[in-house]
Amino acid sequence: MTLNRALEWTSPETQPLILGILFLLALVLFSAAAWPKLKVLLNAKEAAKGDRIFERICTTLKIAFGQTKLMQEKGAGWMHALIFWGFLILLFRAGEFFLIGFFPEADFSFPGSASLFTAYAWVKDFAVILVTLAVFYALYRRLVLKPKRLTLSGEGLAILFLILAIMVSDMLFDSAYLALLPEGHSGPIGLTLAPVLSGSSIIGHLHSLGYWTHVTSILIFLVLLPRSKHFHILTSIPNVFFSKLDSGNGLSRIDFEEEESFGLVNIEDFNWKQMLDLHTCTQCGRCDRACPAWATDKPLSPQQVTVDLRDHLNGPPGSDIILPGGVIDDEVLWSCTTCGACEAACPVMIEYVDKIIGLRQGLVLTEDRYPKELTDAFKSLETQSNPWGFPKATRSDWAKDLGVPIWDKNNPTEYLYFVGCNGSFDTRGKKITESVVQTLKDAGVEFSILGNDEGCTGDPARRAGNEYLFEMLATENAETFKEKGVRKVVTHCPHCLNSLKNEYPEFGAQLEVIHHSEILQKLVKEGKISKKQNEEEKIVFHDSCYLGRHNGIYDAPREAINKNSIKEISQSRETGTCCGAGGARFLLEENTGTRMSHHRLDELMVNEPDTIAVSCPFCVLMLEDAVKTKNLDVKVKDIGEMLEQKKLSGQ
Ligand code: SF4
Ligand code: SF4
Repeated sequence: MTLNRALEWTSPETQPLILGILFLLALVLFSAAAWPKLKVLLNAKEAAKGDRIFERICTTLKIAFGQTKLMQEKGAGWMHALIFWGFLILLFRAGEFFLIGFFPEADFSFPGSASLFTAYAWVKDFAVILVTLAVFYALYRRLVLKPKRLTLSGEGLAILFLILAIMVSDMLFDSAYLALLPEGHSGPIGLTLAPVLSGSSIIGHLHSLGYWTHVTSILIFLVLLPRSKHFHILTSIPNVFFSKLDSGNGLSRIDFEEEESFGLVNIEDFNWKQMLDLHTCTQCGRCDRACPAWATDKPLSPQQVTVDLRDHLNGPPGSDIILPGGVIDDEVLWSCTTCGACEAACPVMIEYVDKIIGLRQGLVLTEDRYPKELTDAFKSLETQSNPWGFPKATRSDWAKDLGVPIWDKNNPTEYLYFVGCNGSFDTRGKKITESVVQTLKDAGVEFSILGNDEGCTGDPARRAGNEYLFEMLATENAETFKEKGVRKVVTHCPHCLNSLKNEYPEFGAQLEVIHHSEILQKLVKEGKISKKQNEEEKIVFHDSCYLGRHNGIYDAPREAINKNSIKEISQSRETGTCCGAGGARFLLEENTGTRMSHHRLDELMVNEPDTIAVSCPFCVLMLEDAVKTKNLDVKVKDIGEMLEQKKLSGQ
């Protein structure tokens, strides 16, 4: 079988020549824009991403090829998925077009090739139809529906029309071919349209028009790719492949001995994966829509952060503009709660939290500029190991009358209960601590505390960009754990959990860290604590970002309080909204826009609950404060408190 489609506009001699010139030109133009980007990536700082290949392949198959994150939004998800899957099928078709052009008279037949070509023609035609429909839907969304998160750009429209040109020219080429050569192979499009064209005097011209429109559209597409946001077509799959696999924020220690400036100050401070992230943004706006700061009119738009950094990265080399303050405003950086909602929403796995904290590090450690509220907090953390300045020697005063044993390395208990600053000093936080102690005691769990040897994990210092202070606090605690032989830790604070579990191993503290919800879930299952509760009580559950999104713990707190009693709201689990406390925001004033805690409370109140169940002491404070300000009739309780009550009411 020959692929020769006898193009009327060219001869077998001129056809490869013209195509070759066009192809070379496109390749040169593509390389001229793509090479500088690639060169910057190749010269960028190292990022340890070459591990756990099998896990990475599975993630890529699921998220990139399976388009699972895009499907979180049905309409736009299907539209994009159809175009993506269609293009995968049409890659072979593009190959066929170039073979036809370069080898006009070659015979590529082999046994069985006729049925194979026909089978592919059918599959390909369905892909062409679905991609065409998806493009029309995309145009309808952009031009008629105009969703808020999308900005209408000429570039986006140009790409859609190019795709449409590729699809229509494919249909034209096949139909004209079958009209010229009725015994040729074709799919349903050719079979349907060929009779319409047959007999026309311009079929040969239509055939050539279809061919050249198709190949030039593909080549224009290639040239535009590295010059537009559609560069993501090339970078998305590697970006997903090299994305973060572990829980936590993906932060690593700074080498204070070796580095000259600390944090992300210049674009050269980005590692290659962080730069790849910037090239991969599709500007779909999903991150903005998920962001609690954006929703409450703060100046932070995660999408814009990426676009501004990308434009700076693509700008003239050698620019000495400082990133924090120069490219991204300080207030933008301090608006982030590090909740990770943007990352959970991003279909191409762009990471934000490490960049925002890195930029904050640049502000705090290199530029020595940060909100005034942090001055006292940093001092208190340094001198008293808590952010509010309570005397270190009073850290365990809450436990005085409760008979909680202090950790004895010669006679250790199964668990060390790490209480955290909130649970040790805050009036409301101490009530939660007492309820956890009571429940653990009731269930016969063996535990003790570090007493005044416990110190802040350093979480607020790290999230606020003061890596130096975090290093100091983490080193002290890690030494304490090692010296006292601590192995298993339970904590009711998700921020402590996140630090101890994900960040302390770098300090040599290899701990098994569990959240109190996990231990309570287990005790409920074992029947050691009562699940009895008021059947009439309407409960909604608020997911803490550092328990859920950053550590994947969603079921344990729900099962501890009986998940059947929870009336789930739509913004829950992976799509839960932050209360506004994370990322050291609980230390900062919130003077712009509406309060994030009020925004979250509005979402939680949709189901008119009697009780908002929470598994983070900071979320309890934020939401309770919002309830008071809004004067609502709803209780906010830590799950430990709910179980204690159930037990008491069951006696
Ligand atoms: S981490 Fe949260 S607050 Fe920060 S940019 Fe992302 S969604 Fe917004
Ligand atoms: S960062 Fe991700 S979610 Fe946000 S606009 Fe870019 S691609 Fe979309």
